[in-house]
Amino acid sequence: MIINCKQIAQDIRKNIAEQVANLKRKPGLAVILVGADPASEIYVRNKSKACKEVGFYSESISKPANISQSELLAEIRRLNADDKIDGILLQLPLPAHLDANLIVETINPTKDVDGFHSENIGKLLQNKPQLRPCTPKGVMTLLAATGVDLAGKNCVVVGASNIVGRPMAIELLNAGATVLICNSKTQDLAGKIKQAEVLVVAVGRAKMVHGDWIKSGAIVIDVGINRLDSGKLVGDVDFISAEKIASWITPVPGGVGPMTIATLLENTLTAYQNHQMREK
Ligand code: NDP
Repeated sequence: MIINCKQIAQDIRKNIAEQVANLKRKPGLAVILVGADPASEIYVRNKSKACKEVGFYSESISKPANISQSELLAEIRRLNADDKIDGILLQLPLPAHLDANLIVETINPTKDVDGFHSENIGKLLQNKPQLRPCTPKGVMTLLAATGVDLAGKNCVVVGASNIVGRPMAIELLNAGATVLICNSKTQDLAGKIKQAEVLVVAVGRAKMVHGDWIKSGAIVIDVGINRLDSGKLVGDVDFISAEKIASWITPVPGGVGPMTIATLLENTLTAYQNHQMREK
């Protein structure tokens, strides 16, 4: 069965909009885009649009690709000190002359709605999560929607990036699952995938995982977004063959993508609530 990700994301957004309608001060999100990468521009536009739809205060900040490190750090510090802003999202990747790690670490961890600051990643690792990376957290929401208890399940995460694969594996571990993390050096990937009762793929290679690699009845979450030469968007999993084998599967597009944005809104609301608590 296909997990109805769009509906789940829509329900979250509706619920947030209802909560925000009753608030005097609105949660605020600043989205920073450096340069003019067309894909990043689309992501930033979608995030800002989603913010406005739920009634958040939102600032879209565009900076030229040649901005200096010190200017960008000054902008982050300004937003850290701005009481209207609860969340700061820095659209990655950044131009090569900027130290992305240092810039992310400059974001106040309480405003780090992407969950990429080492303090937030560390807390996730200790199973004392605060702000959790959006894509893996969104995947956990999708898995919860299947009603399947993850405790004791054999889970395989393919991909080990800091923004998806690694925090995804920790999320599953925190849910009591037994987790195997695969990367580009993994031997016999198909054999590893065959063991998965829950499979999460976040590699960035179109249709890399075929249906015959998948264990019958597995839950398959496809994080990948790949544009074919034809312009069509496809995931890392060959959906047509995998759908026949999986018990649950996410589509691409309209799967993990909308959940990531809904989760960003959730994180911004959480950051807002934390800030309100501290002010009391
Ligand atoms: P990265 O390129 O940062 O990481 C890819 C990971 O896949 C690496 O860990 C790499 O291994 C691993 N890998 C590469 N080739 C293989 C292989 N043949 N077998 C096994 N593992 C392999 O990508 P991201 O994590 O940023 O993104 C992954 C995909 O998810 C992309 O398609 C991206 O567009 C999509 N994405 C979707 C989001 C959404 O909201 N739906 C959000 C974020 C990303 P190694 O560590 O050894 O290099």
